[in-house]
Amino acid sequence: MTTTLTEQILEQTNPLYIGGEFVSAGDGQVIDVINPATGRWVGCVPKGGRKEAEQAIDAAHQAFPLWAGLTPQLRADFMQAWAKKIRNNIEEIAYILTAEQGKPLYESREEAEGAAQFIEWYAEEGKRLYGETVPASATNKRIIVIRQPVGVTALITPWNYPATMVARKAAPALAAGCTLVLKPASQTPLTAVALVRLAHEAGMPAGVINLVTGTASLIGQEFMANPLIRKVSFTGSTEVGKELIRASANQVKRLSLELGGNAPFIVFPDADLDAAVAAAVGNKFENCGQMCNGINVIYVHEKIADEFSHRMSESVATLRVGHGIVEQTQLGPVIDQRSVDHIESLVQAAVAQGAQVLVGGHRMKESPYDQGSFFAPTVLVNVHDDMQLAQEEIFGPVAPIIPFQGEDEVLEKVNRTPYGLAAYLFTRDVRRVFEISERLQTGMVAVNSASLSVPQAPFGGIKQSGYGREGGHHGLEEFTNLKYISLTL
Ligand code: NAP
Repeated sequence: MTTTLTEQILEQTNPLYIGGEFVSAGDGQVIDVINPATGRWVGCVPKGGRKEAEQAIDAAHQAFPLWAGLTPQLRADFMQAWAKKIRNNIEEIAYILTAEQGKPLYESREEAEGAAQFIEWYAEEGKRLYGETVPASATNKRIIVIRQPVGVTALITPWNYPATMVARKAAPALAAGCTLVLKPASQTPLTAVALVRLAHEAGMPAGVINLVTGTASLIGQEFMANPLIRKVSFTGSTEVGKELIRASANQVKRLSLELGGNAPFIVFPDADLDAAVAAAVGNKFENCGQMCNGINVIYVHEKIADEFSHRMSESVATLRVGHGIVEQTQLGPVIDQRSVDHIESLVQAAVAQGAQVLVGGHRMKESPYDQGSFFAPTVLVNVHDDMQLAQEEIFGPVAPIIPFQGEDEVLEKVNRTPYGLAAYLFTRDVRRVFEISERLQTGMVAVNSASLSVPQAPFGGIKQSGYGREGGHHGLEEFTNLKYISLTL
């Protein structure tokens, strides 16, 4: 009898995946995965450590010559087969993703589709990993520049986008000819298990993709200490990113770091207000505000600040909060109770300093929210830049609104943060579009919309939001070394 992906994974003890085989961790210890909407157990994964990481690295190392030696077309064929499996299992992946992460099913479906899109796009882009020829300094010389895969790579992903974060890293690594060891977040490892199972079913050669779950600090130590790992691609908090930078020094290990953000959303009086409100609500409350490039603070020109706040509050008040598994749900829980506590403390501190709650502002404790980690969608006004929630990543469904008077003033405010991932700008003035976009200290700017992540564009930040890019040919190049060959005829 064949079993579905959800039957294989949910409410099961899932194995690691090393060298093309599903294996359990040595001592049988596990990490439980909890549904943040219900507090119920949804399954578990092995609590691996350095030993399991080392085994996975060895398997990836064994597989590297074969994978790197394939033609780009053959690698693309394997990747396309994987993407097809994902497309054929969107519903199952979405169900697993919602069960462990909490986001509404429609968002999980979009995310699973996004994962397939990244793999498809990079399968094709791998065929265009061109080198260069450079004019030489003598007639009997030639200069050739080629790109080669860096080798075995370690990919560490966060809990907020358990499907796309895996695909956004694995797809360019595979397309470049690298083999990989994936370490997903302990709160949401089951989506990664599903994706890896589908890669296995799609016929991915043994050892090309390996999965280890377990104690992050131990697995991270092995990644940084093992010389076979040539590159680590990490998405997560700035704090852990800094630890990895320090640890990378010993072996001068290559890193790509997609870290935290503090994205401003800036609205000028000439903006299309309906579009701006819709975009602000869409972005701020996607994934319950737990998005690295999610809006942190909304800056609205003082001429339209009251009107904007009023319209935004009306829209936010209609959002349906619930269990992600219920089709009508627009906003699920945040990831855990610790997160609810943090969001609540930020809101309470702001209110104590004079902020006014227009909508929400509290945790949700009554049935059907009583077993989960829910915070009501919130709009705050009378907010000041020096409040803690304006300074740091809120990572929850809270929209603070701050009025501003002029361009220089708002730029000075938003560029003051140590982060620099994304910014959003609403205006119809072409001069302002260019001038503000160019003066914003961020890796990405969206003008008159609030969405950014697509396979063909370089996603990433500056300052303490990290370095390296995911997406586009830039993301592929992150997994390659340049080699210059000087040829004398
Ligand atoms: P996190 O605590 O830094 O964890 C991220 C990943 O790193 C998890 O897999 C975690 O494993 C692992 N990890 C933790 N400590 C480690 C260590 N010492 N060595 C190696 N790996 C370690 O971050 P998070 O709370 O899951 O994610 C939220 C953060 O990610 C936010 O700041 C958000 O802005 C950022 N983010 C950035 C982007 C971007 O593209 N810039 C995208 C998404 C999220 P365990 O789960 O097992 O602890």
